[in-house]
Amino acid sequence: MPATTVSDLTTLERIAPSPRDRSRPVRSLTTAPAGFEGEGFPVRRAFAGVDLADLDPFIHMDQMGEVSYAPGEPKGTSWHPHRGFETVTYMIDGTMEHQDSEGGGVITNGDTQWMTAGSGLLHIERPPEALVTSGGLFHGIQLWVNLPAAEKMSTPRYQDLRSGEVTLAASPDAGSLVRVIAGEVAGMRGPGSTRTPMAMVHATVAAGAELVLRWPEGYNALAYVLAGVGDVGPDRRPVAAGQTVVFGPGESVAVAASATQDSRTEALEVLLLGGRPIREPVAMMGPFVMNTRAELRQAHDDFQAGRLGRAR
Ligand code: MN
Repeated sequence: MPATTVSDLTTLERIAPSPRDRSRPVRSLTTAPAGFEGEGFPVRRAFAGVDLADLDPFIHMDQMGEVSYAPGEPKGTSWHPHRGFETVTYMIDGTMEHQDSEGGGVITNGDTQWMTAGSGLLHIERPPEALVTSGGLFHGIQLWVNLPAAEKMSTPRYQDLRSGEVTLAASPDAGSLVRVIAGEVAGMRGPGSTRTPMAMVHATVAAGAELVLRWPEGYNALAYVLAGVGDVGPDRRPVAAGQTVVFGPGESVAVAASATQDSRTEALEVLLLGGRPIREPVAMMGPFVMNTRAELRQAHDDFQAGRLGRAR
């Protein structure tokens, strides 16, 4: 995985849990179904079957790939609108080009794009032309983070977080690499600044190693296994790639990698997410996430009337 990495983890700052921390228990464990997005790129719907109240402030997450494209095969989305939330696109492998009604950018190998759709915009997400021609590896995630009612109609905004800006740390035994992409975890602050207080971490746990990470108080805690096999929580529940864990209350989260991994990965790759729940009604329809049905109708009407911008 070319997401930001370091060859010698012992050079990194170590983050240690307190022995008094209660390890958060596993509340639910679900397996993400596979599907297709946009013009047909393969995704896993990470949060399918998870209670929305347990996800809050998160709404939806797709694991894009991992897929190895033949030349001419890479696919993207067509122009589409969003309103009322934020999309976070983390490219682990490969490159994604993004264009919206105002501008655009490219993210690649460990970069994250944070898009606050707010009052609304139109955008398109696709592999760059050169990658379509050559084919290649493509792997990433797209996470939808809700906005509270007071910020749903805020001005759209982007943050491009480059892979080199990600905050890196290691577990006390240097068996785990912790990448803090957003928020503050165990005293380490990531580059992403979020409207809704939240944290996002990509951890690589070496075969046979265990990561115990202090987790922010008042945040929920979720783990999604990107690759590999292992176990989670104080009861060591087995997990594998494509599974989502919701943790209950406590001070830390525990994730361990099995001593033997499958042929696709040397380590357990896990995304850890948490945020302060918004606790407002959620009305969702396609690309819009609002509080009421009336606001969804308004979003649809505004899109039809071209008030969310135009395709370029
Ligand atoms: Mn989109």
